[in-house]
Formats: sequence, structure tokens, C-alpha cells
Amino acid sequence: MSFNITGDALIGGVAVKGNGGSFEAWDPAARAHIAPAFHMVDVAQIDEACRLAQAAFDPFRATSDAQRADFLDTIAAQILELGDDLIVRAMTESGLPRARLEGERGRTVGQLKLFAGLLREGSWTDARIDSALPERVPPRPDLRLRMIGLGPVAVFAASNFPLAFSVAGGDTASALAAGCPVVLKAHSAHPGTSELVARAIVKAIAICQLPAGVFALLTGTGNGIGQTLVAHPAIQAVGFTGSRSGGIALMKVAAERAQPIPVYAEMSSINPVFVLPQALAARGAAIASGFAASLTMGVGQFCTNPGLVLGLEGADFTAFAAAAAEALAPAPAATMLTAGIASSYAKGVAALAQHADVTPLVQNAGEEGKGAAALFVTSGEAFLGKHDLRDEVFGPASLLVACRDMDQLLAITESLEGQLTATLQMDAGDVIDARRLLPVLERRVGRILANGFPTGVEVSTAMVHGGPFPSTSDGRSTSVGTAAINRFLRPVSYQNLPQDLLPESLRDDNPLGIWRRHDGVLGKL
Ligand code: NAP
Repeated sequence: MSFNITGDALIGGVAVKGNGGSFEAWDPAARAHIAPAFHMVDVAQIDEACRLAQAAFDPFRATSDAQRADFLDTIAAQILELGDDLIVRAMTESGLPRARLEGERGRTVGQLKLFAGLLREGSWTDARIDSALPERVPPRPDLRLRMIGLGPVAVFAASNFPLAFSVAGGDTASALAAGCPVVLKAHSAHPGTSELVARAIVKAIAICQLPAGVFALLTGTGNGIGQTLVAHPAIQAVGFTGSRSGGIALMKVAAERAQPIPVYAEMSSINPVFVLPQALAARGAAIASGFAASLTMGVGQFCTNPGLVLGLEGADFTAFAAAAAEALAPAPAATMLTAGIASSYAKGVAALAQHADVTPLVQNAGEEGKGAAALFVTSGEAFLGKHDLRDEVFGPASLLVACRDMDQLLAITESLEGQLTATLQMDAGDVIDARRLLPVLERRVGRILANGFPTGVEVSTAMVHGGPFPSTSDGRSTSVGTAAINRFLRPVSYQNLPQDLLPESLRDDNPLGIWRRHDGVLGKL
């Protein structure tokens, strides 16, 4: 079957031609526009999508966990039904290779199914029962707590994962699992891919007989659509992955509303890698080649890209830098996701190359629209004093920092902004240094890993893809893994309510058979 792309928005379960002007998709490899034209939604259409989402909220959250699990599974099946049309369109719009996008589709389907499993298991609702103690002085009432969805969520699709962090990505999956309708702002870099996936979701809504307002796709480009969406009173939370400036602009809009709402924005991170002395001496060359592979994977367009490497100055670090430079030198320039990302990358690399305190080690030849590997080195002293060396350069560029000693390395670590990840390359003899670093890293980052590289984020129950500002706007959260559902939930407590008014998850006989904390004891009680 061949799936048509019409350039429409999807509002209320139907294709709607946007009234706000038009734009075309861009093929970054061919450097050419792609048909058809896409029509941008206007303010009235954004309003309609948000009102429908608000109207859908109560009936949607009243569905059982099993029904929402089936819905997520049905979305996954409908995405697979799109077959090669989806992969080919995503390749054309992103410049990413087939294998990467097929893998990403697997991840997208897998995370929808993971959330379906979470719903079937039931503990996400965090049911708690404190039985009444009428004899106590003063008497304790019967208290029962569960989590419920926050309300309609505005999701901003990311450019760098056109499937897994986009229309049916982790933000959408976790919001729908929580019982929250989603109004999705498609990323203008892959509008055709977005439409195909959105049509799969709309079809799943029809199959599962859910209210049409459970999902809407808003098409368009420019800041107005996103800002109008976040300002809409029906919207109760925001999920965003993109630039620091975009995330901060949306946080401002959300904070200035009559009713401020939470924004979960994943923004910028340089993901420090610490090459500790024993590991550096024993296997510096192997670490350098693993680092080069991680840095250049996907043309460096990952939020977990290793943009900073710290080690102690000396012959071992010099040899490591030479090995990393040698591994990076043959890496060809490759097409970046968008012209904007390519030009920001070129500017970031040029700024580092011209920096008085930085020595270029590798600056591969690039061309317009492409990203070429770049590696720079500076001293710990210079890095400590210069805040412009800490900015994310989104792409395959990294800065090595040769620190005078462990005290200086720790001082630099203390001075870093919040990060998604920190990596320790360490051997047994590095444990004392690693122990000194750990408490600092726990305060600074969301995920600490040993003897690996930060790219490659497992979607699982124990994953944290988050971290203190500015890696995200709210370091208490993760945007990957089942814990991502917590961003879109809030607790409600029921005091002395009769059994037949209570939700099933809190009734005495535990009809859902879920894990609950009953008078302090965790079990299927
Ligand atoms: P972006 O420019 O922040 O765009 C993300 C989404 O937010 C798009 O839908 C965009 O609309 C919208 N938007 C951006 N600024 C806005 C504003 N001020 N008000 C309202 N809406 C706004 O991100 P991008 O296009 O993906 O990439 C640009 C840069 O972001 C990259 O060079 C990189 O530095 C960073 N980035 C970081 C990550 C990460 O995971 N940390 C991932 C991707 C990108 P349009 O569709 O109209 O542009």
C-alpha cells in the first residue's frame, strides 16, 4: 500500500488544511524542496485542537489501563503498517541512513509497547491506602492516594530523532499512557514523516473507539505556533526536545500564563567524559577510538554526544589526543539534519578554532549542509576561566581539557552546568579518583556511566535521560524510559470516600490486582 502525504494538519481525527500559509519540506542531502506543500495552522486551528483535547481528557482518562495499553499497541502496529513509505520519507527529510531509521522505528514501536506493559502491570498509579484509625487520638481518617494525568500535553517533536523523539516518540507515548491527550507541534524539518505517523495514531484512535481529541498534529514553522499552543489554557504540561533558546522561550511563555504549567524541556548538554589516569595509561588508544566512533555517530547530532573530555596533562594525555585525532581524521563530512543545524555547527566550530586558548587538533573539510569532525584541546586553567568553552556545539565536535591535577579536574567538574550524562573511563586503580568525582557528578548529571560512551540511550525502567538545568528544564524528570510518565501525573488523595465512589485501583478488594502500599506495606494488598 502507498500512503499519501497531503500537507494537512490532523485535528479532531480529520485532515485539515492549515489556514496560516504554506511551506515545503527540505531534502538536506539533495539540497532541494520536496513536494507537497505543507499548510501551517493558524491561531483558530490551534485553539480548536486544544479545545478538543480538553474535551477528550475526562473520557480518555476514564478508560481502563488495559484499554490504553491496547491503544499504544495499536499505534505501534499502525506505524509498522506504514512499511517502507515511512522509512523512505524519513530518509529523504533527515538525510539519515536507512539502517539508523529502521532501528529508530524499532525503538519507537518498542517504547510504545514498554508503556503498554507498564499500564498492564499497574504500579504507575502509585496506589496508597492508609486505613482509618478511629480509636487513635485524634482519629485518623481513611486516606487513599493515586496518580492521575495532568491534562492535555503540548509535545514538541525533536529534529534529531524523526521517529523516536517525534510524533509517536517518548513524550507522546508517556503522555498518552498517563491518560493525557496530546497536541503535537510537528518539527518543520520532517513534516511528511510527521504526517504519516500522525495518520497512524489517528487510525489507532478510530480502531480503539477513543475520542478524536486525544491527539492532534499541528503543522507549521516559526515560533508563533509553539508559543500560542503553550499559552493555551487547555494545555497543562509541555514536552520539548531542541535548542536551549527554544526551550527557555517556551518556559517563559508557560510561566507567564494566568495558570503557569510545567515545561519538560531537554535542551543542551556537553556530556563530559573523564579519562582517569590508570585507564589512560593502560588503554588510552582504545578509549580514543571508542570516543571517535561515539563522537561521529549520526554526524554527532545526539543530545548525549561527548563534547568534552577531561584528563590529566602529560605524555599519556598527549598520546590519547593524538590517537583520537588519528581516528577522527578519516571521518568524512556528512549531511546534517537541517540547514540551520549545519550552519550553527559551522559557527560553533569556527568559534572554537579562533579561540585564543584553544588548539585545533582536527578540523576535517566540510561543505555547506554537512558536518565534519572537529577536535580541539585546551588547558584546565583556560577552561576554568572561560565560560564560552562550555557551550554545546551540536555536531561531531569535542574539546579535550588537559588538567593540571585531580584537584583542578574536580574544580572544573564543580564548575560545569547540568548535564545529561557523565562518563568515567576507569580501571581498578582509578577507584579513589572516581569516588571523589561521584558526589559531584551526582549533583551535576542525570546518568553516570563507566567504561562506555554516552551515545546510545536504552529505553527501560531504570533509564534517566534528564539532568539539572540546562540539560533539562526540570532535573527531577526523565524523558526516556517508563519513569517519563511521572512528568504528566499528579497525586489525588481521597479521604473517607465510600467504596463505590473510589477508583478501582483504591478499592478494598484490589479488583485490578495491582501493587499498592497498604498501611505502609508494599504488595498486592
Ligand atoms: P529548535 O530550534 O529548538 O526547534 C525545536 C522545536 O521548537 C521546533 O518545533 C521549533 O519550531 C520550535 N521552537 C524553537 N524555538 C522556539 C521559540 N522560541 N518559540 C516557540 N517555538 C520554538 O531545535 P532544532 O531545530 O531541533 O535544532 C536547533 C538546535 O537545537 C541544534 O543546533 C542544537 O543545538 C539543538 N538541539 C538539541 C537537541 C538535544 O537533544 N539537546 C536536540 C536537537 C537540537 P520550528 O519547527 O518552526 O523550527
